[in-house]
Amino acid sequence: MKKKVGIIRCQQTEDLCPGTKDFCYASEGKGAFEPLGTCEVVGFVSCGGCPGKRAVTRAQMLKDRGAEVVALTSCITKGTPIGFPCPNKGMMLRAIRARLGEDFPVLEYTHPSAAELKAAEEAAKA
Ligand code: SF4
Repeated sequence: MKKKVGIIRCQQTEDLCPGTKDFCYASEGKGAFEPLGTCEVVGFVSCGGCPGKRAVTRAQMLKDRGAEVVALTSCITKGTPIGFPCPNKGMMLRAIRARLGEDFPVLEYTHPSAAELKAAEEAAKA
């Protein structure tokens, strides 16, 4: 049975990215989802805007709606697509883990950054 995941993205990035890669990587079980296999996205919400406090209650909402795993997107933790990670990512992760319980799985990214993909391509060619 597919794992149910809830995804939290950066509100500031909504104008730049519709989250296509997050959905693809989750449904194909790639990137951060690889250890889980193919996943079903049961919710896709933003952090609620800076400084990200709303991400904590939104993570709880995703869990309450059936998410077995919560993932913070790569726009938050890796700064995709413009190389600008969230300055509050560490605090957000700690607060979400404290709220959901330390045993509840929280993924720290969704897919590799463009730079990581390029480096992997070049390593494969070498
Ligand atoms: S708190 Fe971080 S993740 Fe949320 S909108 Fe601001 S920069 Fe983006």
